[in-house]
Amino acid sequence: MLDSSLTQEIAAVDGAELDPDVTFADLTTLRIGGKPRLSVRCATTGAVAEVVRLLDRSSVPLLVVGGGSNLVVADGELDVVAVIIEAADITLNLANSVVVAEAGAEWDDVVSLSVDAGLGGIECLSGIPGSAGATPVQNVGAYGVEISDVLTRVQLLDRGTGEVAWVDAASLELAYRYSNLKFTNRAVVLAIELQLRDDGLSAPLRFGELARRLAVSAEENAAGTVRRPVALVREAVLELRRAKGMVVETTDHDTWSAGSFFTNPIVDPALADQVQARVAAERGEEEAARMPRYPAGEGKEKLSAAWLIERAGFAKGHPGVGARAGLSTKHTLALTNRGDATSEDLVALAREIRDGVYAVFGVTLVPEPVWVGVKID
Ligand SMILES: Cc1cc2nc3c(=O)[nH]c(=O)nc-3n(C[C@H](O)[C@H](O)[C@H](O)COP(=O)(O)OP(=O)(O)OC[C@H]3O[C@@H](n4cnc5c(N)ncnc54)[C@H](O)[C@@H]3O)c2cc1C
Repeated sequence: MLDSSLTQEIAAVDGAELDPDVTFADLTTLRIGGKPRLSVRCATTGAVAEVVRLLDRSSVPLLVVGGGSNLVVADGELDVVAVIIEAADITLNLANSVVVAEAGAEWDDVVSLSVDAGLGGIECLSGIPGSAGATPVQNVGAYGVEISDVLTRVQLLDRGTGEVAWVDAASLELAYRYSNLKFTNRAVVLAIELQLRDDGLSAPLRFGELARRLAVSAEENAAGTVRRPVALVREAVLELRRAKGMVVETTDHDTWSAGSFFTNPIVDPALADQVQARVAAERGEEEAARMPRYPAGEGKEKLSAAWLIERAGFAKGHPGVGARAGLSTKHTLALTNRGDATSEDLVALAREIRDGVYAVFGVTLVPEPVWVGVKID
């Protein structure tokens, strides 16, 4: 239990500082959420480890917070201690193109420093908000690249044993928007290690929209092997993301979000056929032929959540002017706080979208963010 003696012990940890006033609305990109029981800012990875150990020893519920860009948190008083990671060193070793970042480093700083040094492999992940330490948690990805493509090792605090060790990335079972860290709280990432390339060129351009922006023709890129200078690719990605409100800007409510709110559904081919037949019946064969569906491993296909949401009748900006929570006016997949939304406003919108898509297509959309003190069901 969190009593005054434990609070004092935490406050005395070297590199830890209590922040009595902060709320989750201050800590998250949705700018929604109430007050944790206690907030601790940790300036070193050692402080993170020690604070988490102390809380775990007393079975006090805690939430590790990086950039707060993948969190939906309830309003009011929350029975949770926020452990905010601020250890932010980034080291580039140009001799072997290995980059090591502490968990609290801003992810986009890792990308920009790497790109400036001519290191390639993560330029497509430019502009993703949040911390370096959270990137393995849901295996962040964008424009055809995932962190799993370059992640070699992570330094973990195992919350079961209290031990700190570097472990291979393979042990995290990284997959589409998944790792065995997500939703399990089994460990805290203290640092990440990436193996990049040193020829100044990007990862192969696998994503059509990005390839077109960089004037790569479909024929040229048929094999998906074309690469371009890293700085060019970073600029193109940032432009594409800004146009969709996918780069956080304080003054733009379209970016007060948790990014893509639903993951792209992975379904059986029979369900994908059913959805396509439904589109054909309601919107014609041509529209059905354009339906995105991609192979997603053995006997599975990936559909586009944004495409389904739009075809289920939810336009960008839904439900419209005056609503406290609404779809971004730039991107159907982002649920946004228009200024004074509560967590319940956001949950009601999420439910409306999920249920609307299910009613039309029989596909259940699964939310991507981590929920704290609030549920969609
Ligand atoms: C505008 C916008 C665009 C986005 N675009 C993308 C995108 O293109 N691709 C993509 O994959 N995601 C995207 N996201 C989602 C989000 O940015 C990523 O999931 C990001 O990695 C979250 O990092 P964070 O530090 O903000 O995590 P937080 O929101 O602080 O935490 C998220 C979860 O991870 C846990 N966590 C955080 N740090 C650690 C750690 N060091 N160790 C263990 N657990 C930890 C938290 O406890 C929580 O459960 C976007 C979000 C926004 C707002």
